[in-house]
Amino acid sequence: MTEAKRVALVTGGAQGIGRAIVERLLHDGWYVASLDLDVEANAELQEALGTTGKIRVFTGDVSQETEVNQTVAEVVAAFGRLDALVNNAGIAHPYQSPLETLPLAAWQRILDVNLTGCFLCARAAVPHLRRTKGAIVNIASTRAFQSEPHTEAYAASKGGVVALTHAMAISLGPEVRVNAVAPGWIDVRAWQKRSRRQSDPLRPIDHAQHPVGRVGKPEDVAALVAFLLSDEAGFITGQTFIVDGGMTRKMIYAE
Ligand code: NAD
Repeated sequence: MTEAKRVALVTGGAQGIGRAIVERLLHDGWYVASLDLDVEANAELQEALGTTGKIRVFTGDVSQETEVNQTVAEVVAAFGRLDALVNNAGIAHPYQSPLETLPLAAWQRILDVNLTGCFLCARAAVPHLRRTKGAIVNIASTRAFQSEPHTEAYAASKGGVVALTHAMAISLGPEVRVNAVAPGWIDVRAWQKRSRRQSDPLRPIDHAQHPVGRVGKPEDVAALVAFLLSDEAGFITGQTFIVDGGMTRKMIYAE
C-alpha cells in the first residue's frame, strides 16, 4: 500500500535547523516546500535536493504579508495540499545593544520576523491545514524562559511564540494541532551555506556543561518536529517542548 501524500512548508529551510528539518521530513516521505530569505542558501538547497522532485524552494520574507500569502498559494498549487507548517525562520542571533540604546527599528525587526512571521504564515496556511487536519510546529527558544543580558527583543519574540502556540492550539482545534519546540544551544555552523560554513570543534567545556554531555545538533530538533507533525502525536497540542540537553534544569549558582 502506498502512503498518503503529506506536504510540509518549512520556513527558513535553507540553512541551520530548518535545513535539518527539511532533510528529515524528506527522509520520512514528506513533500516539502521551503521559504527562505537567503538567495545564495536557496540556490544551494535547490542544487542539493531539487532533483528529487519532492521539494520546492521559495525565496521570500516571512514578515511580508503578500510574500507569505503568495508562497502558501503557490505551495498548494504545486503540491495540491498542505498538511504541516513549521515556523522556523528567525533572526537567530539573540544579542543586541543594551536596552537604553536599543533602536526601535532593531527591536521591531526581530519581532516582525520571529513572531509576526509565525502569525502571517499560520494565517495563510490554516484554511489548508483545517482541510487536511494538519499540524503546526513553531520554533521558540529556551530564551523564552531565561536570559543573558541584552537579549530583550529576541527573548520577547520567543516568549511571544510560546504564547501564540497555545492560543492557536485552542482556536484551531480540533482540526489543527499546534506545538512549539524550544531549543537550547544548537550548533548549526556545519549547516550553513558554503560561504558561512564552519567545522572547527567547539571547546570541551561547551559540551561538558550540558547534562547530556554535548551541545545540541540540528537533527535533535528535527527529530522532535517530525514526531510532533506525525499522527503519533495526535493527543498533543498547545505545548512547548524544551530540547536543550538539560541546561534549563541545571542549578548554576557560582561555587
Ligand atoms: P540560521 O541562521 O542558521 O537559519 C535561519 C534561516 O532562516 C536562514 O536560512 C535565514 O536565511 C532564514 N531567515 C531569516 N530571516 C528570514 C525571513 N525574514 N524570512 C525568511 N527566512 C528567513 O539559524 P538557526 O540557528 O538554524 O535558527 C533557526 C530557528 O531556531 C530560529 O527561529 C532561531 O531563533 C531558533 N533557535 C536556534 C537556536 C540555536 O542555538 N541555533 C536555539 C534556539 C532557537
